[in-house]
Amino acid sequence: MAAPSSPHTRILVIEDDEVIGRHLETGLRGGGYACTWCRTGASGVAEVSRTDPDVVLLDLGLPDGDGVDIARRLRADHPSLLIVILTARSDEIDVIAGLDAGADDYLVKPFSLSVLLARLRAHLRRRPAATASQEAPLSVGDLTVDTVARRCLLGGQEIMLRPKEFEVLALLARHPGAAVSRETLMEQVWDENWFGPTKTLDVTIASLRRRLSEAAAARAGVHPPEITTLRGHGYRLESSTPSSN
Ligand code: CA
Repeated sequence: MAAPSSPHTRILVIEDDEVIGRHLETGLRGGGYACTWCRTGASGVAEVSRTDPDVVLLDLGLPDGDGVDIARRLRADHPSLLIVILTARSDEIDVIAGLDAGADDYLVKPFSLSVLLARLRAHLRRRPAATASQEAPLSVGDLTVDTVARRCLLGGQEIMLRPKEFEVLALLARHPGAAVSRETLMEQVWDENWFGPTKTLDVTIASLRRRLSEAAAARAGVHPPEITTLRGHGYRLESSTPSSN
């Protein structure tokens, strides 16, 4: 991964709106990025396969398909690709669908270019550090979080998590039974200079809970740890099997 804002950091914009696409292309190049712009989902997917960019900015409403499906395809084929959804749909359900499909982040239109550039800097700054850890696998009840291999196992079977879900779970699993504040989660998983709303944390926690319970439902006798909400403070991860912890 190239350094933030390097011309070697390559961004692909998949956006059918001429005004927004042109604005992004101009702004991203002005921000020091190499930028390519595709106007359809199909051409965007082909371009990702051909050029292997670092980042995709993905419009959800494309003429030839739903951006959520495209996000899912891109994530399946390119695990390390940074995917940021651009959506005019501010409903939580659409945001959750996009994040579940594998997107790393989202911005609701209209957004300012400076906010987009700040988000990209934050993501790009964080990514290399995420793989630098050498800590031993973390275990809470039947859950194991291996931060070196970046794998999450429940009852010995892998659960696929998107990057932020993994990082939130790993941070909670480092302190099982202890309260972790919203501020700590936002600073350590998102960015130390985070200035936006923290709704993205709630969305990530909700998605994480759902993935854990769905994985447990598919595995007889396995109990996932519970993420308890501490109102006005943060979250706590605790084993749901009293006998095992
Ligand atoms: Ca569109």
